[in-house]
Amino acid sequence: MSFPIPGWYFSLSMTLFGLLFGSFANVVIWRLPRGESIAHPGSHCPGCDAPIAWYDNIPVVSWLVLRGRCRLCSEPISLRYPLVEAASGALFLVAALVWGPSVRAIFGAALFWFLLVLSMIDVEHMRLPNPLVGTLAILGVVGVSMSELTGWCVLPLAGAGAFAHPWLDAALGALLGAGLPGVLALAFRLVRGKSGFGMGDIKLLGALGLFLGPYVLLTFFLGSFLGAVGAIVASRGRGLTAARIPFGPWLAAGAVVTAVAGPSLVSGYLVLVGIG
Ligand SMILES: [Zn+2]
Repeated sequence: MSFPIPGWYFSLSMTLFGLLFGSFANVVIWRLPRGESIAHPGSHCPGCDAPIAWYDNIPVVSWLVLRGRCRLCSEPISLRYPLVEAASGALFLVAALVWGPSVRAIFGAALFWFLLVLSMIDVEHMRLPNPLVGTLAILGVVGVSMSELTGWCVLPLAGAGAFAHPWLDAALGALLGAGLPGVLALAFRLVRGKSGFGMGDIKLLGALGLFLGPYVLLTFFLGSFLGAVGAIVASRGRGLTAARIPFGPWLAAGAVVTAVAGPSLVSGYLVLVGIG
């Protein structure tokens, strides 16, 4: 289902929404893992505890105007805040450009937003909170149901549905997404006594399957490959086991690539090896 509006107008609106949702992402990233309410109180300075006025809370712009300091107490404000806001704006723009003015683009942007938030929390706390992964899964079920009931191509994002029914793609995606790493984790545990990825990663892959269909397998391979490269780089000179790096951000990167270019990558690869 396409909206009857010009593409540039949709892209601009989505980028602005992305910046605003980036501000909200910062709130969720900080408060949710700490068990604080994400609704109350409003934003306040971590230095002097003063409430932050709306004009000092404009995504990216305020941080630049105040040159990364609180207006009242000059406490430095982490560069992370404007970076998360900018990343959220950029991801919403990518969704708008890839899928055009459509419900599909909005679900794509929502997926990217959750992946950004989950990645930042995983880097800091080494976990993927259930409420976030669960909400993402519910969104996936809503998108698949919309596709099924209305005939609009909402989900899955990767491919226009390998099967006649979106729910078949989604169910197979969720099954493969959680199933393959689940089996691998179990095998690792039996052989080595510990596994490379945790329950959070497996649940996230299950939720991603709803958005990506069977292409979630590509996400798993891309994520594992990027994670392995990252682990080798991070552990230079200290041995592989010394580095404990979160898997979430690599999976997130793999999922964005899969959503945007998964089918082209797979068919390109098949041509390359002479099958396609
Ligand atoms: Zn302050």
